[in-house]
Amino acid sequence: MGASLAESSVSSSASIDKPQQADLDRCVHCGLCLNACPTYRELGIEMDSPRGRIYQMVQIASGAPITDSYREHIDLCLACRGCESACPSGVQYGRLVEAARAEIEAETPRGWLARTVRNFVFRKLLPSPALLTAAGAGLYIYQATGLQKLVRALGLLRLMGPLGEREALAPAAQIPFFFRQIGKTFPAEGEKRYRVALMAGCIANVSFARLNEATVRVLQKNGCEVVIPAGQTCCGALHVHAGIRDEARKLARRNIDAVLDGGFDAIITNAAGCGSTLKEYDELLEHDPQYADRAVKFKSLMKDVTEFLAAIDLNRNMAPVNATVTYQDSCHLAHGQKIRKAPRQLLTAIPGLKFREMPLSDICCGSAGIYNVLHTDLSMQILEKKMANVELAKPEIIATANPGCMIQLEVGVRKWGKGEKVMHVVELLDEAYSAASR
Ligand code: SF4
Ligand code: SF4
Repeated sequence: MGASLAESSVSSSASIDKPQQADLDRCVHCGLCLNACPTYRELGIEMDSPRGRIYQMVQIASGAPITDSYREHIDLCLACRGCESACPSGVQYGRLVEAARAEIEAETPRGWLARTVRNFVFRKLLPSPALLTAAGAGLYIYQATGLQKLVRALGLLRLMGPLGEREALAPAAQIPFFFRQIGKTFPAEGEKRYRVALMAGCIANVSFARLNEATVRVLQKNGCEVVIPAGQTCCGALHVHAGIRDEARKLARRNIDAVLDGGFDAIITNAAGCGSTLKEYDELLEHDPQYADRAVKFKSLMKDVTEFLAAIDLNRNMAPVNATVTYQDSCHLAHGQKIRKAPRQLLTAIPGLKFREMPLSDICCGSAGIYNVLHTDLSMQILEKKMANVELAKPEIIATANPGCMIQLEVGVRKWGKGEKVMHVVELLDEAYSAASR
């Protein structure tokens, strides 16, 4: 990609990276979305509801200045898109809030420290396997050498205030990291039916290495030759949620170039949050003449792993998993990608598994990317309600379809649970297949 194109994309981004009037006009302010909104359910404040946030976006689009109050209300949104599912007028709220954040990002002066930290995390750390490996190794040493236990036992975290509280939200680092599998091809078991690419994520290579391996095995069991394409990078979901769309576009172009021409029947992710953004590369790059068509093709191949497996002739050679399981809808699967049946279909295909729905399974658990780190108190309030609903189903296992939700639900189990295990749908399938092969 030539530098001139990158520059022209960036220079035109100010006009496209803000809520578009046609999208705003769809909202008729009926309020039917309010009850689906976790922040409104918790706070009861109109300005922290979807309708209230859209109202504020309309004011800004009409020329009102961006104020601290506007920033806070938009910032407090989980971007869970529960309101989108509830809206009878087809308001694309996810698109609106992402654009609002991009506009805020462009107009918010930040101090040197905040700018440096944001630049490092979003532009250096997340796209870099080398830096993520180094950070993951540090995390692993902290967690595995007993240092974490010592720090916790001595109560040092309490002395660190809010930062100490956030330490409990850090996922475990899993060695060996999945980065070593990037560039490799894994053969199909039995007859090869599909050739698929797996998007391995960014942090997932460190903290969900075993989930990625389980995903490869389950796909192999289902006749897939699985390629982990070299050159792939972070999907850009965290960037989009933070309003850093120029960097998200760079990552999207890199991923498209790394994967699109590999002759794949499908491009697969096991992370609903990533999948939602990967399926919206066409929106992200719609004004990029060189990549717009390629992004549409990329989107047409992009599948969540549960969506892919539920659509093919599933290998039924599974041993029983004798456990009661409930399912927490990942927002970016249920609301972002409109996929609700596929994970349930896969869970109920596992012999021995007793599936039990919990109430309000499609209300956000409070994870929402890095929301639980940025807004820990509200996130924990939302999680406590979620765990109360989990308990009504009395499950032994809480299944979900997104690593971010798994981290949050594990915190929920530690704080309010009854010792439930948290698993990805694919991990349950993997267990059933592995037991059948033994
Ligand atoms: S977003 Fe939809 S449901 Fe909510 S107020 Fe607007 S039109 Fe009504
Ligand atoms: S995205 Fe979620 S938190 Fe944000 S307004 Fe919609 S329902 Fe509420």
